[in-house]
Amino acid sequence: MKLHEYQSKDLLARYGVPVPGGDVTSDPDEARAIAERLGGKVVVKAQVLMGGRGKAGGVKLFDNAADAGAFAKELIGKRLVSIQNPTGMIVERVLVAEQIDIAKEFYVAVLLDRNIQKSIVMISAEGGVEIEEVAEHHPEAIVKLAIDPAWGLGDYELRKAVADANIPKEARNQMVSMIKKLVQAYEAADAEMVEINPCALTPDGKLLAADAKVSIDDNSLFRHKEYMATSSESAEDPIEAEANRRGIAYVKLGGEIGVMGNGAGLVMQSMDEIRAAGAAPANFLDVGGGAKEDRVRSCVEVIMMDPNVKGLFINIFGGITRVDEVAKGVLAALDQAHVTVPVVARIEGTAVEEGRKILAGSSIVPAATVREGAKKIVELALGR
Ligand code: GDP
Ligand code: MN
Repeated sequence: MKLHEYQSKDLLARYGVPVPGGDVTSDPDEARAIAERLGGKVVVKAQVLMGGRGKAGGVKLFDNAADAGAFAKELIGKRLVSIQNPTGMIVERVLVAEQIDIAKEFYVAVLLDRNIQKSIVMISAEGGVEIEEVAEHHPEAIVKLAIDPAWGLGDYELRKAVADANIPKEARNQMVSMIKKLVQAYEAADAEMVEINPCALTPDGKLLAADAKVSIDDNSLFRHKEYMATSSESAEDPIEAEANRRGIAYVKLGGEIGVMGNGAGLVMQSMDEIRAAGAAPANFLDVGGGAKEDRVRSCVEVIMMDPNVKGLFINIFGGITRVDEVAKGVLAALDQAHVTVPVVARIEGTAVEEGRKILAGSSIVPAATVREGAKKIVELALGR
């Protein structure tokens, strides 16, 4: 789960990382009031979960509260589009922060490196909005240091890494101390990534986190209940966000065949067979065990929110889930959600006879096996 910049900065500040003062709001008048409180010289920043806000026009500097408020008014409710996120995201809140003078911009992050199965620290003296360029064309300008899971980070190795990254001498002590705090926050929050870009050096030699991105391992969210409330809005895709609100395990995949199954294995098998049949799955969706009519209907609705869906493949094996319940749910959903695309269902297991009776006479095309079902839906939906 990605945290917003303001949430990330709050978290880091609790571990002693210096961050500029500021406040978040969804109200332009309040934005102006915050700017006034901060003395007028502020930066107004769109709180959307995407990179490149600066280049997308979502970050602007002001020297008076009135202009800051006017910009907040313009920004809130607007869709922000960036190179990293061409569909864009609606700005619901802005952060109004104290504007700092920046002499140099560095990059620093702590993240999980799955290849070496360790967390690493990444440091670069070439921070700022062009860090992707740096990573691509001058990877040597980014120093990586693995954190030993048993020993942690040694001071000596951290000092060496900071020096190797060409962080100027006057900022090195602060950088070392900041990274230690970042690692503490990273571990305490069960984060997958903590990134500060830019880590700003002011002309009078102070190091501050001018931006912050934290991403928390979803599997640990039960230990971080304070973030659960905003976890649905942190989904980057609006359909995923809605599924999240409904408590449905849904992942958007971008293809044209909607998939619904019970049990992750069955869903993945369906996805594989759809690919084998020459199409791409639109989503992953696991209805879960013991799914009742309501739940099934809700799941179908979520799948159909994706306008790319040209056909729906249902693959249910009734164990705990009674197939007749699923069948009723599917029919109700197709009716209420006005599903007009072809639907193929492979159902098997508990109460299958009752289930098949319910589906007989409907527009749902039955399939005896998963492979047959996948072939049929691809043919019916796409004519392949
Ligand atoms: P991002 O583009 O989404 O990563 O948003 P950032 O928060 O990193 O802002 C983009 C750029 O705006 C930064 O790289 C800075 O150059 C600039 N910026 C952000 N906050 C400040 C500030 O307080 N003072 C100054 N001078 N520049 C800032
Ligand atoms: Mn940034």
